[in-house]
Amino acid sequence: MAAEAEAQGETLSYEGLRAFEGLAAATAGEGRDPVNAPMIRHWCEAMGDTNPAYEGPDAIAPPTMLQVWTMAGLSGYAGRTGAYDDLLALLDGAGYTSVVATDCEQEYVRPLRPGDSITFDAVIESVSPLKKTKLGEGHFVTTRMDVRAGGELAGTHRFRILKYAPRRRGADPPAPRAPERSRSARPRPVVNRDNAGFWDGVAAHRLLIQRCGDCGTLRFPWLPGCNACGGQEWDTVQASGEGTVFSYVVMHHPPFPAFDPPYAVGLIELAEGVRIVSNVTGVPPEKVRIGMPVRLEFLRVDEEYELPVFRAEGERV
Ligand code: ZN
Repeated sequence: MAAEAEAQGETLSYEGLRAFEGLAAATAGEGRDPVNAPMIRHWCEAMGDTNPAYEGPDAIAPPTMLQVWTMAGLSGYAGRTGAYDDLLALLDGAGYTSVVATDCEQEYVRPLRPGDSITFDAVIESVSPLKKTKLGEGHFVTTRMDVRAGGELAGTHRFRILKYAPRRRGADPPAPRAPERSRSARPRPVVNRDNAGFWDGVAAHRLLIQRCGDCGTLRFPWLPGCNACGGQEWDTVQASGEGTVFSYVVMHHPPFPAFDPPYAVGLIELAEGVRIVSNVTGVPPEKVRIGMPVRLEFLRVDEEYELPVFRAEGERV
């Protein structure tokens, strides 16, 4: 299959791809609904955008909604030419079967208002030469859509995808890596001023929970403010180390460097009531159960790194 795709890939000429440049992807497309207040309201609520320009009798639509008014829904729209589908099919046939949207650019010419009827044309603007990316080799395809209201240009929407052949495992030499020591090292936590106290505690074999200075609510993981009252003041309490497995997964795949599957990742509910994600140790992963009592211990992962983990209580392995 892969070999077949590769063989076809060699026959795919860039000239053949460039022949699609300038072809219409959609002509005289029509928006399913005129620009309207309910869709604007849903958008603003989803985005958390409270700009007063988007409500009231003189409302305009948020400019970034430009593409929304052209969207076809599941039933598609009239005016689609098939050229875009033909181009994608050609790339698929040559082994560039994966797709990722990479970016979009918009240009606003005039505001859209409730009641505006939308028409649009789309053109395949460019197909890039073969590019090497971290995802794999492929071609970028850029489509330009001109959006009109009452026949007048309102804005332009450029949309770019990468059609690529996914890299086969082991097909390419791995990317250059950091020195040998870090190859098998567990990933390091990001320590910043908001959580440094937690890691200081770990270094001293103490599992520290934050406690709000205003309302006393415990919180974990560490955060700058209280979820309950917003208070900024806090101190810490040391966890007793008692807990139970609130939930868990057993990791089999994918394998990550420095991890040795299968292993159990548990969401541990501490006796104090907060929860922490950690490993469950001292028992084969398939024996981990919800509600299982566990006890804190500190696992030396390598010469400079320790982690709080939870050992199944009363289990003999
Ligand atoms: Zn609080």
